[in-house]
Amino acid sequence: MRESLLPTFAPPEKPLFVRGEGRHLYDDEGNAWLDLLSGIAVNSFGHCHPHLVEALDNQNRALWHVSNLFRIPEAERLAERLTQISFAERVFFANSGAEAAEACIKTMRRYQYEKGHENRMRVLAFKSSFHGRTIATIAASGNPAHTKGFLPDDGGFTQLRWGDLDAVRDAMSPEVAGIAVEVVRGEGGVTAASPEFLAGLREICDETGALLMFDEVQCGIGRTGYNFAHQEYGIEPDVMALAKGLGGGFPIGACLTSGEVGDVMQPGSHGTTFGGNPLAMAVGNAVLDLLLEDGLLANVKARGEQLRATLLSLAESFPDLFGEASGKGLMQGLVCKQDNAAFMAACRQEHLVIGRAGGDMARFLPPLNITEQELEQAHQALHRAAARLV
Ligand SMILES: *Cc1c(COP(=O)(O)O)cnc(C)c1O
Repeated sequence: MRESLLPTFAPPEKPLFVRGEGRHLYDDEGNAWLDLLSGIAVNSFGHCHPHLVEALDNQNRALWHVSNLFRIPEAERLAERLTQISFAERVFFANSGAEAAEACIKTMRRYQYEKGHENRMRVLAFKSSFHGRTIATIAASGNPAHTKGFLPDDGGFTQLRWGDLDAVRDAMSPEVAGIAVEVVRGEGGVTAASPEFLAGLREICDETGALLMFDEVQCGIGRTGYNFAHQEYGIEPDVMALAKGLGGGFPIGACLTSGEVGDVMQPGSHGTTFGGNPLAMAVGNAVLDLLLEDGLLANVKARGEQLRATLLSLAESFPDLFGEASGKGLMQGLVCKQDNAAFMAACRQEHLVIGRAGGDMARFLPPLNITEQELEQAHQALHRAAARLV
């Protein structure tokens, strides 16, 4: 029956997950699996969190969809709350990360256009970045594996070497509308931007009138121990893309902007049918309730340290298997020197769910409310998995 799906993903035969609760997934044979991936940073509060289930249940019985032709109070409330905890003054809701990134890109270009700079269309981005799978976002990331056969030209994007401020300065021209960057790179290999890199980008944008876009689709919403990853750096963007963790498992995307930038997007300039619908917004508000609870970010920081210590101990105990550990908070990667797939398989034998990232990395994105004890179990299981390979 799988033949009926477009074969864009090749899922493993096993396990088949049928239920989730807290930080555990359950397969069709009744086995419990510890989830260290959260559906790729999506299930930010684990599976079927009672507060999220209740929010969705209540909205489910009240109203699903009215379209953006009408007011949606849940969307107004979530937008207001997001602006209260961030640099932003305006929010556009979409259904996915790619749509959120596209809205950011469109907003940057439209802003320049409205300021009388019709030729400022080019967006600078970085190699080994990831902004999504739509035509514009694959053009932005410029990963040949993703663009092959899809693009007639560069789409108005240039990719530079990550971290290379000289390359950015050289690439600046009167045609550059903005710069797009992940604060902590995810798919391309878990790597946090250096403070100098982000500060340099902000400075270049301020000097030239280009706009700065942070893609926090993966690293935002508490993932690094801050509401938004860039808040640790004290450097603010002009536009920011959110998605993944904001929905806690329900599809949501959001484009956040400063007031001046967002206000160029007037009625008719952009739109969506499903984005910001009552179901998604009810869940998004419930996710914010949990994100803003006392102690949550402190838990992410403490558990992040704990996870990092585990990865360092793996590298120390199995120097032939593992290299460097990198990342922030509960967004961590570990370089696999040998076959990454073999380590994944060994983890599966230990009923551990982990992910992969570029740069031959194993990727760890556990739920933000994972406990010390659960991470201690993960520590033991990861060491057992590695031992299987030697
Ligand atoms: C996942 C991701 C996207 C794309 O999100 P989709 O919901 O898959 O469209 C964009 N940017 C980053 C940084 C991501 O990690």
